[in-house]
Order: sequence, then C-alpha cells, then structure tokens
Amino acid sequence: LTPDEITRIREDFPILKREVHPGVPLVYLDSAATSQKPASVIEAMNAYYRHSNANIHRGIHVLAEEATAMYEEARLKVAKFIHARSEREVIFTRNTTESINLVAYTWARANLKAGDLIILTEMEHHSNLVPWQMLAAERQIRLEFIPATDDGLLDLEIYRQLLSQNPKLVSFTHVSNVLGTINPAKEIIRLAHAAGAVALVDGAQSAPHFAVDVQDLDADFYAFSGHKMVGPTGIGVLYGKEAILNAMPPFLGGGDMIKKVELRSFSANSLPHKFEAGTSCIAEGIGLGAAVDYLSGVGMGRIAAYEHVLTQYALDRLSKVTGLTVIGPSADRKGGVAAFTLADIHPHDVSQLLDRDGIAVRAGHHCAMPLHQRYNLPATTRASFYLYNTRAEIDHLVQSLERVKKLFA
Ligand code: PMP
Repeated sequence: LTPDEITRIREDFPILKREVHPGVPLVYLDSAATSQKPASVIEAMNAYYRHSNANIHRGIHVLAEEATAMYEEARLKVAKFIHARSEREVIFTRNTTESINLVAYTWARANLKAGDLIILTEMEHHSNLVPWQMLAAERQIRLEFIPATDDGLLDLEIYRQLLSQNPKLVSFTHVSNVLGTINPAKEIIRLAHAAGAVALVDGAQSAPHFAVDVQDLDADFYAFSGHKMVGPTGIGVLYGKEAILNAMPPFLGGGDMIKKVELRSFSANSLPHKFEAGTSCIAEGIGLGAAVDYLSGVGMGRIAAYEHVLTQYALDRLSKVTGLTVIGPSADRKGGVAAFTLADIHPHDVSQLLDRDGIAVRAGHHCAMPLHQRYNLPATTRASFYLYNTRAEIDHLVQSLERVKKLFA
C-alpha cells in the first residue's frame, strides 16, 4: 500500500478524523482489541435498518425477503473470504469466544470422556482456555499445554511428545494477541490429524490480517470475530467442516434451529441454521459482509504486506528506546502487535500518559494472564497496528514514550 492509498484508506474511517482532547488528534493503536469501522460498514447497517428491517428466514413479505437475502449474502461472502467449501460451514455467532464455547458445549461434550486429553498452548487468550477448563472440571478431562519459548514461539518438540498421548483435540491460536507470534498452523494441524485429533484454530488475530484458507489449513474448526476485522461487534464466525458440524448435537435450542417441533421432541434444522437459535444479529451480519467486501477490496495480501513493513518499522523504532523491551519474536514471525515493558513504569501509567498525547494503546494482561505469568510480567503495554496506521503514528508513539520516560526519571 502506497502512502497515497493509506491516506485514502484513512478517509474511509470517519473516527480517524476526530480529536480525543482539544487539539489532540486520535492515534489509534489498539486494533488488536477492536478495529475501527469504515463508513461502508456503518452505512450497510444503517441502510438495512432504514430500508429493509425485518426478521429473517420466516417472513413471506418484501422486507423479510430482502433482509434474509442480505444476511445470507453476507454468509456467502464470509465463506468465500476464508475459502470454505460451502456457506453451510459458516455459523454466525456473537464472537470468537462464543464460537469456541459452541465447540466446547457440543462437539466436545458429545465426543470427550473422563481421561481424554486436550492440547492447548501457553499463549492462549482466556477464551481458548476457560471453556476447556470448565469442561475439564466437569468431565475429568486432561489439559496439556505446548510451552512458549523464551523468544515467543511454540515449542513444537514438546508438542510432538504430547501428541504421543493420543489427544482428542488440539486447540490453539493462529496469532498471539500479545506476542504477535504467527504460529505454523498448517503444520500444527497436520501433526494433530496424524495423531488422530481434531484441530480448532482461534483465528481472532489472523482472519483480520492476512488471507486465511481453511481448506489449505485443513482446520476442523476456525473461530473469529467481526469487530477485529473492520466489522461490527456482536457478530462472529465458527467455521466447521460440514461432516463434523452435521454429526454434532445442536447448541442453543429455540426458534430457527429446528425443522419440526412437537410437545416432547424436536428435530434440528440443517446447516448452518442448526446452530443459530433465535433471532440473529441481522444488521451485524450484514455489516460483517460489508467488512469482508472492504478488506477484499483492498486485498488481504496487500494488507498483510503493509502491516509487515509497519511492524518491522515499529520494532526498529521501539528497539532504540532505552529501557523498552518488546516481548515475542522478531518481525519475520510476528503480526502487527508490539507488547512491551518500559523500564519499571507501570503499563497503566504508560498508557494513561500516552492517552494525553491522543495515543490509544492497551495496558494489562490482554486476557492472557497465564502467558504473562510465563514471562514473569504482571502486565504489558500493547500497541497494535492495522491497515489504516502510518509510520508517522509510530513516530508519535516513540516520541510520547520518550516523554513518559522523562516524567518518571
Ligand atoms: N482470541 C484472541 C487471540 C483474541 O485476541 C481475542 C480478542 N482479544 C479473542 C480470542 C476473543 O475475541 P472476542 O472477545 O471477540 O470473543
């Protein structure tokens, strides 16, 4: 992406024009938490409410048919975006968290029994830990963890050893939201399958940032959130292989997920509706479709290449701030995330002072407390980058960090 294209992209995101304090423009470096939204996404949701609002899948009137068509078209766009074989493999959920919980409540509870093993990693977000901990406590299931190495990579040697214990499931993050590590997902899945396990990928930090092909990965499940990929909150995706989804019991019971209901029994609807009980997040689904259009319009390959250059630049600049340590691997293995410590200044103080300069970053454990424990850090400050960020914003971050240091010196 050229500087001119970035300028045009920034024009598409209305919020990037605002000031956060009088005379202080916003520098948004918190896209790993949630991304900003282009006008096309906001307008798509607006247009649905203004023009076509109706409940979907049931009504036989113009609005209901329009709304259903818009929502189902969004599903087709998502299916194409991740290269699913069919839109039946795309289940709309609220977010990554709900997608993972869906698998834990249905597939896992139908297939796992006491003593079975699930392999996770030390770099998981809480949403790919807690659902399995809950299951483990309920069913006496064993959890083992692929360790994170000192330089922020997964220890695949230990993974190979764990695989000899016949795991039933390997569930891991594609990209760490703290270290930024891009894990070798295809290889992890290949090894999981060779050991007879099912593989779930937490794609919350990968789907927004580079082209993902679920068939090439051979993922059994792939979960992600709309709000981190320039889409709205309240809409997420669970991709699952059709045969696996068909064999799974439904999740929530209610309207839309049924074919036939009698007083004492029901039969489940076909995919994907079997897993979508109740009125869907219709505007949000339509918004996600517009988000996919937006990202595809720019091109995922170009977004990834630009973020890589930007991350490299950020790591170079940050490495020259004395007392600052970025955790995680070098730029060649890293997505657009830089979590760091700055001398012994508390990350909350760092982020509060950066905010005075208009810079939005995140401070804390980033929903990855075990990972922070692994590196003996109570918290980090995290700057994260997306297609609308610029080198000038990173320069601004670095200057502001130098001021923070002076204040605490
Ligand atoms: N996994 C990872 C790697 C994440 O970064 C996040 C969001 N921080 C999640 C899962 C959870 O996403 P959500 O809150 O949208 O469910």
